[in-house]
Amino acid sequence: MAIDPSFEQNREKVDEEHGVAVWGPVDPPENLGIRGTHVAVDFDICLADGACLEDCPVDVFEWVDTPGHPESEIKANPTNEDQCIDCMLCVDVCPVDAIDVDPGRAGRI
Ligand code: SF4
Repeated sequence: MAIDPSFEQNREKVDEEHGVAVWGPVDPPENLGIRGTHVAVDFDICLADGACLEDCPVDVFEWVDTPGHPESEIKANPTNEDQCIDCMLCVDVCPVDAIDVDPGRAGRI
């Protein structure tokens, strides 16, 4: 299942962590929600492949620890989403479609 590109309408913003918005529901360690707004990563789909970290030309992503999550115990957090240049490389390379980028969304909070 891919990230829901309409998460802004379908989810509630419940928190801020590592500098980006958290879109619920969140029930750690199994359910971590979607992180970021302009650049959004569904932490419950991310399996820590790392292609987004390697390919992003402006280093938007940073690893964060998510111990106990069933898919992976680290996740690619869009910490620097305000630097995104909308090249869409991360969207293309993610093997599980965990990332959605939309310059029309609000971005960093
Ligand atoms: S769209 Fe491009 S610049 Fe933006 S986060 Fe993805 S790889 Fe980085």
